[in-house]
Amino acid sequence: MNRKIILTFTLSLFILVFSPLSSLPPYRLLSQDFPSLKDVEDEVFHGKEMKIRERKSREDSVSKRGDYRSITPEHGDVNDLDSYCDIYLTMKKHGYKGVDFKMVLNDIMNIVEASEDIDGSKSTVSIKLNLSGQNRNLWMEKGILIVSGNKQMTPDESELIRRSLDVFPSEISSSVRAVISMDEKGYDPKGEQSGWTWEDDSGIICINDLDKYHNKNKESYINTFMHETAHVLEHTGFINKQQLAKRDRLWDASEKGTGDFISSYAETSRKEDLAETFARYTSDTIDFYARALMQFNEGKSDILLKKLELISDIYKYTREGKEYTYIYDTTHDGKITKKEIPLKTYKIQSKEYVLPDASSITYTGQAPVFMRRLPKEVIINKELEILQKD
Ligand SMILES: [Zn+2]
Repeated sequence: MNRKIILTFTLSLFILVFSPLSSLPPYRLLSQDFPSLKDVEDEVFHGKEMKIRERKSREDSVSKRGDYRSITPEHGDVNDLDSYCDIYLTMKKHGYKGVDFKMVLNDIMNIVEASEDIDGSKSTVSIKLNLSGQNRNLWMEKGILIVSGNKQMTPDESELIRRSLDVFPSEISSSVRAVISMDEKGYDPKGEQSGWTWEDDSGIICINDLDKYHNKNKESYINTFMHETAHVLEHTGFINKQQLAKRDRLWDASEKGTGDFISSYAETSRKEDLAETFARYTSDTIDFYARALMQFNEGKSDILLKKLELISDIYKYTREGKEYTYIYDTTHDGKITKKEIPLKTYKIQSKEYVLPDASSITYTGQAPVFMRRLPKEVIINKELEILQKD
């Protein structure tokens, strides 16, 4: 009797004990049914020597910083562009990890940038990767790739990324070199990530599915992109040493659970604090400003206000001897507006703060729930008035 049950039991036990899944690093779980990146490369190159031999190993590329943009020139060849694009297409077909896409797309961009005929090389890539419309223009004009990774990039997603790139000052948008659409299986250590990038200067960002991961919330998708962009700006050195030192001082002085952090995720590390703060500023500066002032005015601390000062300094530029910054607002349906606002030095309780000039801020949107009684710009001016009385 029940030989079937016994057999099933024995079989389950066998699978449980001998399962190869338990002993391998997580990324292999998903990679085992298709060839390794190395095999794909060998296949595409048909035994021909691969020119880019200096590339960091897959594992190195996850944690080491620097040098990504300068690896190629003498190692890659413009004649290999087709082959590298074929590797990318094979990875896309099989749904490889984000880190594999990063390495190959980085090679492609490095070869293009080092080639004598950059426009011709860009055009080759554009045809091979099947870029069209505005994504093609963005690549041809600015050298930024918006492409599908292990999941197809939807028109909505690429539109939101282009809008975000559009509102950045050009030095910031040009720090980003590629944006790859992924689902949660594209991330190595764990699945649950809304977006990710690496601690290197590749300027490559992976972003998780708008419909599934972000529940079709366009504001949240944009916020993720802004967050990852902040990491890129730190790793490429656009955010300078003084600004990072200030970030560190503020991180050290911040107390968890007190309102010193803009979000709970910001409490996890100094890098995440900067990325969250940058993303929130760039999503809704006025909301951030009002919140920071109220925090200060209620006698809590000026840390959030100093974090606002830090981000407005990252956006600072000078025109005709006068300093300006940008402020931003994003709507739920993913429209982003940018305004330039003069910077002004406020003396508050004998300390100086360089902040966006509150008298230049006008706001027509909805005040957040906790301050719905008044428009936000009124709150900012009112709070500043109280603060400046001493
Ligand atoms: Zn982050």
